Amino acid sequence: MLTTHPFDDDKLREECGIFGVYGAETASAMVALGLHALQHRGQEAAGITSWDGEEFHTHRAMGHVAGNFDNDEIIRQLAGDVACGHVRYSTTGETALRNVQPLYAELASGGFAIAHNGNISNAMNLRRRLVREGAIFQSTSDTEVIIHLLAKSRYRTLLDRFIDALKQVEGAYSLICLTPEGMIACRDPLGIRPLVMGRLGDAIIFASETVAFDVVGAEYIRQVDPGELIVVTQGGELRSHRPFGETPRARPCIFEHVYFSRPDSIVDGSSVYSVRKGIGAQLAVESPVEADLVIPVPDSGVPAAIGYSQESGIPFELGIIRSHYIGRTFIQPGDKVRHLGVKLKHNANRALINGKKIVLIDDSIVRGTTSLKIVQMMREAGATEVHMRIASPPTRHSCFYGVDTPERGKLLAHKMDVAQMCAYIHADSLAFVSIEGLYRAIGESRRDDQSPQYCDACFTGDYPTTLTDFDDQAEVNQLELLRERVV
Ligand code: SF4
Repeated sequence: MLTTHPFDDDKLREECGIFGVYGAETASAMVALGLHALQHRGQEAAGITSWDGEEFHTHRAMGHVAGNFDNDEIIRQLAGDVACGHVRYSTTGETALRNVQPLYAELASGGFAIAHNGNISNAMNLRRRLVREGAIFQSTSDTEVIIHLLAKSRYRTLLDRFIDALKQVEGAYSLICLTPEGMIACRDPLGIRPLVMGRLGDAIIFASETVAFDVVGAEYIRQVDPGELIVVTQGGELRSHRPFGETPRARPCIFEHVYFSRPDSIVDGSSVYSVRKGIGAQLAVESPVEADLVIPVPDSGVPAAIGYSQESGIPFELGIIRSHYIGRTFIQPGDKVRHLGVKLKHNANRALINGKKIVLIDDSIVRGTTSLKIVQMMREAGATEVHMRIASPPTRHSCFYGVDTPERGKLLAHKMDVAQMCAYIHADSLAFVSIEGLYRAIGESRRDDQSPQYCDACFTGDYPTTLTDFDDQAEVNQLELLRERVV
């Protein structure tokens, strides 16, 4: 059996990346490059839809961008100077080609393609209602709900129908849509998932992260604001709409700063790399320890480890070497071989570690499986003390906004307090950055508990939206509910 998560790297996974180009001769080729830069946001499937002024063209496939879109013939078939694309893990809906985006439908107004990053948290209720009213769904994706709401809307123009549909959905959505009239990019009123706008010559570009602009040589203009809907029409004319009126304070996902975004991206106006270094410095102030070396769990722990080292004065060293040749797609190992997986991906730099007291820095602990193995690996390599420091608060709650979280009962911090977690992973000490420290590293003086500046629900349980699909937030098992077939 093939799997894309060969050795359970024990991370929350961002579910999707989106990229759109309006007004470039080579739009599809640029989208392929942009999606390649966003591959870390989703590795199960990729798709591109283009518009050539007369027809829409789509290619969707399971697997990576490279391998599916490095073929000249496929890019040639995706003709036109307007295109959008998507990379995904599965948030909702099974992993199957029919769920791969962009989704496309023929509406009364013409073709409509949609690429969605996020998760509609009332999709099951809406879907039940739509099915009762006669809708026939082609996929199990939450995104298709938006298409059906749009198709049924009584408003006259496509834009008004689209806004009518969005006003009925709850949760997180950053969207790039293609219509015969142009491109629409928008972000939910809370701005939970990111979306940024750039320019290359006369072409307008939208992407989940600024790193995708760098790859195609585009210039970052600004983020799409929470609750903003931007329409790009012929000639690259931009119109910004605020269809939701007065919206509550935005609450973008704080985990973008901790782990999801690439360190070379700008998120919410801040350099992700600088923020991660700042989190490491906060950790050093809040949870100092006497040690010989600061060692990151690669690659995601590196910036925070540099910050911890610079603040504490303890030398930074690469005590764990990561193999870059382990594929994302790998034959599922049997149980006896599975535990070797961590060693295949990470190996101890024994000559450096032997006889040393070390501080290990990682970005998060989800189930604790990798932390346990890495601490053991450090001890086997001769470390005399292993102190674990985590560059986020304990992850205690599930995410409902487009992030693959294990069911809550499997989150180590949901089951145990910090002392129990420390004993479980066999570390000499364990500490997490405080929620206040995390906010400070992002540039806030403190967390506003009445109206938080970010979504931090996986740490605090303070969800920014109602969750009408779920009867009891306290008891919810997100994955079981989301995977329930509702037709
Ligand atoms: Fe991000 Fe956590 Fe909020 Fe999900 S619950 S959007 S991962 S901060």
